[in-house]
Amino acid sequence: MSQTLQQAIDWALDELQALDAPRVDAEWLMMHVLDCRRTRLLTHAELLLSPAQCEQYQQVVARRKIGEPVAYITGTRGFWKLDLCVTTDVLIPRADTELLVEQVLALAGNDQFRVVADLGTGSGAIALAIASERPDWRIIAVDSSDAALTVARKNARLNQLDHVEFFKGDWCSALPEALQPHILVSNPPYIDADDPHLTAGDLRFEPRAALRAADNGLSDLRTLSTQAFLNLRDGGWVLLEHGFNQGAAVRQMLQVSGFNTIRTIRDLGSQDRVTMGKKPEVADHE
Ligand code: GLN
Repeated sequence: MSQTLQQAIDWALDELQALDAPRVDAEWLMMHVLDCRRTRLLTHAELLLSPAQCEQYQQVVARRKIGEPVAYITGTRGFWKLDLCVTTDVLIPRADTELLVEQVLALAGNDQFRVVADLGTGSGAIALAIASERPDWRIIAVDSSDAALTVARKNARLNQLDHVEFFKGDWCSALPEALQPHILVSNPPYIDADDPHLTAGDLRFEPRAALRAADNGLSDLRTLSTQAFLNLRDGGWVLLEHGFNQGAAVRQMLQVSGFNTIRTIRDLGSQDRVTMGKKPEVADHE
């Protein structure tokens, strides 16, 4: 049975009505099937879909209906100004994480910071966004998962950011010997294993290892805070993404590690999301 684009979207709106944003989802999935931009959907409502397109659309809508995230169905997600590939081996990049990128760029406005490492890079989102804005910096991205690194390297190629360097391993232990970055940035796992959010929405489909951390979600943040202090150059900065209710705990762990000028930045929803701290300059040491 043939359908016009408009008829297919109307059908999908009905199918997806129980979800948060049926229209957005229906449109993204149609853009995926037709490999087109949104304006085409709006200007070609009467376009007759081929039987193959109808069938593919029915299949992707059925996957979305049972909760699979749009980004995993289409295999892509926009982050910063980049189009990134995503698979179930990596977390889907979040708009809130762009805050980390903004803060790194703001810190380094005076260009004195030129070596940046992204720890737990996943799809490569943070490292690649920074690399796209500061092409002459040395950008290093680390992940403990081979599968994630495959996705991140592919994203570097697709976005012509081949100079970003990738290393496999746990946090700072994967950094090249004797490298002392000016900036360490990370969006680590920070959700407690018992958090009910893990069993709802998109999170159900995302890699547990990228989401879940022991000790109320704080264990990786604590490891990063300690390791960052040991590995950063004097006067360098650490920036950590964390849960909305973890700001005070992260500020405290940065302080215990020896950082100063500690501050927390709020996300688009006015929730604590990124905490940063500066490793003292040598002259600051008493
Ligand atoms: N911000 C994500 C969420 O709560 C989690 C990301 C993470 O654990 N690093 O949906």
